[in-house]
Amino acid sequence: MTSNNPTMTAFVLHGAKDIRKEVVLRPAPGPGEVLVAVRAAGICGSDLHYFAHGKCGNFVPTQPFILGHEFAGEIVAHGEGVQSPAIGTRVAVDPSRACGRCKQCRQGRYNLCPKMVYFGSASVTPPSNGCYAEYVTAPAQNCWPLPAGFEYAWGALLEPMSVAMHAVQRSGGVGGKSVLITGGGTIGQMILLVAVAFGASKVIVSDIKPFARDFAEKYGAAGTLDPTSKTMSDDAAEFSPGGFEVVFEAAGVAAALDQAIRLSAPGATVVQVGTLPDGTAIPANALLSRELQYVGSWRFANVFERVIEMVVSGRIDPRPLITKIHPFENLSEAIVEAGSGENVLKMQIANPA
Ligand SMILES: [Zn+2]
Ligand SMILES: [Zn+2]
Repeated sequence: MTSNNPTMTAFVLHGAKDIRKEVVLRPAPGPGEVLVAVRAAGICGSDLHYFAHGKCGNFVPTQPFILGHEFAGEIVAHGEGVQSPAIGTRVAVDPSRACGRCKQCRQGRYNLCPKMVYFGSASVTPPSNGCYAEYVTAPAQNCWPLPAGFEYAWGALLEPMSVAMHAVQRSGGVGGKSVLITGGGTIGQMILLVAVAFGASKVIVSDIKPFARDFAEKYGAAGTLDPTSKTMSDDAAEFSPGGFEVVFEAAGVAAALDQAIRLSAPGATVVQVGTLPDGTAIPANALLSRELQYVGSWRFANVFERVIEMVVSGRIDPRPLITKIHPFENLSEAIVEAGSGENVLKMQIANPA
């Protein structure tokens, strides 16, 4: 890199409701890393938590840091030892920096690496910087080239779509099965798209918001449920008498978990994707007596390429998931709008070359 310490614009979180546009030092790529000019970035529920509360669950930042972990961009510099992807390549970046050496990493389950450093996260001390900046450094091996015609905005959707793909893989497969998704937020709707693409016999989405139910019906759900309705159980039985064979709990709400278990068929698999409040009770005797398989699904591993292929083949259309794209400069407004908007799925920022 040049010696005159180049700078860049970044959005730095200082605390709850306090995100500041600042000029900071541009990072230099280390050995094995590349410098990526960020072209598109998504706003995730976790970013909204950090913004609203200054923390996310029990991840409490010890110092100001740059948020954001869903992004795509252009490779503009190489660190030592890097030959590919070439300068100028358009890439999406897997934001998981795993150690690569522990047992979980060596078994291909790097999402479970105890030493994981995720982009834009306070899961480590000090917190790791993310992608709400003009530039980020990333390991070259985390960069997935985008095929021609694959937009940066879709590239910035690969991280949450990978979460959905991983959840479907954790279920053991949905082909030919009746599926219930509790929670029609961005991840829930992405699971819907993946489950339909993978041949579920029917997918039902449950959500309190009419917007979420309308979206699901428009994009492949065979029906929807209102979890607050008195007739919820009867409505569910009409869709799938005897219960659903695979259930994804994507709401992260105790009441939704209860419904997920109650509406599942004996022998079903229930996948926990949403983050539940600490201390949430699990209906253990229902698991026991109906031999349910209750499995966790945490982030994702090794699915970026598969999601790209599903989009390229036309099996998954990412476009409806993007509610609005703001200019990079307006990140703070975009976060406020994403947090307050009732009718929002994915909010993104774009910073074209
Ligand atoms: Zn995310
Ligand atoms: Zn590891």
